[in-house]
Amino acid sequence: GGSEGAVTRGGSADVGRPDGMSTVFGSLAGRVVVVTGAAGGIGAGIAKAIAEAGGTVVVVDIDDAGAARHAASLTDAGYAGGSIRIDVGDEASIVEGCRRIVEEYGAPWALINNAGVQDRQLLLEAEAGEWDRVLRINSRGPFLMTREIAKAMVISRMGGRIVNIASSGVKGQLVRGHAAYASSKTALLGLTRVSAMELAEHGITVNTLLPGGVITTGAVSSKGPPFDGPALRPPPLGMCEPRDIAAAAVFLSSPAARFITNQTLSVDAGWGIS
Ligand code: NAD
Repeated sequence: GGSEGAVTRGGSADVGRPDGMSTVFGSLAGRVVVVTGAAGGIGAGIAKAIAEAGGTVVVVDIDDAGAARHAASLTDAGYAGGSIRIDVGDEASIVEGCRRIVEEYGAPWALINNAGVQDRQLLLEAEAGEWDRVLRINSRGPFLMTREIAKAMVISRMGGRIVNIASSGVKGQLVRGHAAYASSKTALLGLTRVSAMELAEHGITVNTLLPGGVITTGAVSSKGPPFDGPALRPPPLGMCEPRDIAAAAVFLSSPAARFITNQTLSVDAGWGIS
């Protein structure tokens, strides 16, 4: 309070919690955070970390049962939140799902665009339909989620946070069979840039996270060519876990990160060094 202009935009400058304890990141208490692809893997880790930071987390996934299960595990532990099925590859599903989120929870404070899929096909035998599927989910999905959620953020006049989960692949840790995946994740850098520009006047920040070498169950499909590439060595610090990506996502979603926008942050256990 007390500040003016750009200082008050970007949400509250508060760094206190309702219980009187202060945190360096500021409090997510009472703030609604939407995490896509949060039934499992990195998204589930992000949802858990957001809940632990006091946020009300909305677990979004195409896997309805998985999303409900993860949300229940959080609410059973005493955290605030719930789940909803949205297929981020489908515009109607996104529009309707986001409308329901706003109706049920109020305007979201943050959106984490995490849902993503991979292609596993070498160029010489690649099918265009697979390209379209990966780009539709990985690039068009975050675009449409941003459009719908940012509309509610703008109306709320509270500012907001958007984090796009791309991949260390955009920095060169490429694997064979990933033409569509690498392209779809690189597109997120452009989406981040333009949405950061257009939404800044509403106090909404937009950043990209580049995870690399994360242990999840669903990341590497067994079909397709071998998962390899010239630059692919073990990360110097060892394999990441979902909570390592989650820590960065919580920071970028926090009130304290209000002047960080259009940035790209790698959480790749040092992969970028090699
Ligand atoms: P994952 O496959 O374990 O989880 C992805 C989740 O997204 C699943 O719950 C799945 O049901 C959901 N999903 C898939 N399609 C969807 C759709 N159309 N609509 C809604 N939800 C959908 O993957 P992960 O390893 O946890 O990866 C999460 C994100 O991180 C992805 O964007 C991925 O590209 C990125 N990433 C992962 C790694 C890694 O090493 N695991 C590295 C770099 C980037």
